[in-house]
Amino acid sequence: MWDGIVIGGGLSGLIAGIRASEKGKRMLVISEGVGSLTYSSGVMDFGDVERLKEEKNHPYALMGETVVRAGMEYFQRLFPDYQGAWQNSQQVLTPLGSPREADLVPTGLNAGVLQKAKEIVLIAPEGMKDFFPEVIKAKLERVYSKAKIEIYPVAVEAFDIWRNSGKLITGMDYAKYWRSDQGAVNLKNILGKLTEEMACSSSGATSGEKQGEKSAIIFPGLAACFSNVLKGVLEEVPLPIVEMTAFPPSASGQFLYEALKQKFKALGGELLVGTGVKKVEFQGKRCHTVIVKSKGKDVTFSAQSFILATGGIFGGGIQVGPKDANESVMGLPLYVPAQWTNSEFLGEQPYAKMGVEVDPELRPLAAGNQEPLFDNVRIVGRLLAHWDPWLDHCGGGVSLASGWLAGEIL
Ligand SMILES: Cc1cc2nc3c(=O)[nH]c(=O)nc-3n(C[C@H](O)[C@H](O)[C@H](O)COP(=O)(O)OP(=O)(O)OC[C@H]3O[C@@H](n4cnc5c(N)ncnc54)[C@H](O)[C@@H]3O)c2cc1C
Repeated sequence: MWDGIVIGGGLSGLIAGIRASEKGKRMLVISEGVGSLTYSSGVMDFGDVERLKEEKNHPYALMGETVVRAGMEYFQRLFPDYQGAWQNSQQVLTPLGSPREADLVPTGLNAGVLQKAKEIVLIAPEGMKDFFPEVIKAKLERVYSKAKIEIYPVAVEAFDIWRNSGKLITGMDYAKYWRSDQGAVNLKNILGKLTEEMACSSSGATSGEKQGEKSAIIFPGLAACFSNVLKGVLEEVPLPIVEMTAFPPSASGQFLYEALKQKFKALGGELLVGTGVKKVEFQGKRCHTVIVKSKGKDVTFSAQSFILATGGIFGGGIQVGPKDANESVMGLPLYVPAQWTNSEFLGEQPYAKMGVEVDPELRPLAAGNQEPLFDNVRIVGRLLAHWDPWLDHCGGGVSLASGWLAGEIL
């Protein structure tokens, strides 16, 4: 018998599992897939907490500011390489080169330093999929209009065969290469040569102006904060290096997912990825067993408590038909707006707020009732009702706060 079973191993489920394990609980995470974190850019958005915590039924209003802050602090304790402070957002570059705000940002992605730069060099790894140097350059020229922007193409011999055969190289392929022994040496050489060239071209700097204060390098897709080898290489470079976020799947999101799994396992947690919970058994107001299909057979797991972290429509936690929507594991009642969509493409889309309504301890509520349906089941992350990650910009915030809270009170 497990102390707790988490169903769904995305951001919210893994945070819940890690927190509960840290508190000495024996935890099992069962996950059908890898979760939407692997598609995200790896930065954490909390949105306008002051406003959202006043919105009726919003998860922030239910959990309260203290819990949202605890979620943020907890994540930073797990990942000290993430910069950010409460409601003091950082700037990151989108995959097309526009700056945008985000709350918790892997150290290397903070683009604040570009504001002062007079010379910005954009590294362009050749043949990199979904990376558009000319478009990015044009955008950077508009945003950092006082800086000279240059593209610096980089061809990696190891990918020659790929390029010659027309095979595109993903950001993740490059990210893996740079952290290999050969890749790290190559990166060191590339950056050494580039900084020398930049030092020569800026030898006319006015007195008191150091090269590092007026020049910067943009490097896509290193995800350096997840690699001690890469951190070591970048530390030796005398210029600031700014990484960009990437189109999905991004290296930062994928390495963050791997790092979360490692932390959970290091605390003694067990992880079963690739198989979904098909059925759940209850007695009275308590869930006691989940059933998964493995190699054609039903396998059962029992626990004292359960955390449902199956995501929304995207994660598989909500299944939608032409006219109805269902919570896919426990058959819990869902909040479903009367009208699902809005003809204004970029406007509010009501279906985004579909989800399970909960009490302040994240226990699911019966439809139209404030009584928890089950005493030992908690709902976290995207499956919660009454929030819209795209308009509220709080996908990371809700997942971290609810995951932390569920792990804390399990
Ligand atoms: C493309 C994209 C970009 C994003 N960008 C950002 C961003 O820049 N900043 C930000 O803050 N947030 C961003 N988000 C949102 C953020 O990533 C999500 O809010 C967060 O990851 C949700 O986590 P979750 O754990 O609740 O759900 P998910 O990540 O969806 O995980 C749910 C997990 O449950 C599993 N599952 C489903 N059904 C079952 C079952 N029956 N049995 C077992 N397992 C099951 C799924 O396979 C999946 O692994 C982005 C999301 C997407 C999709």
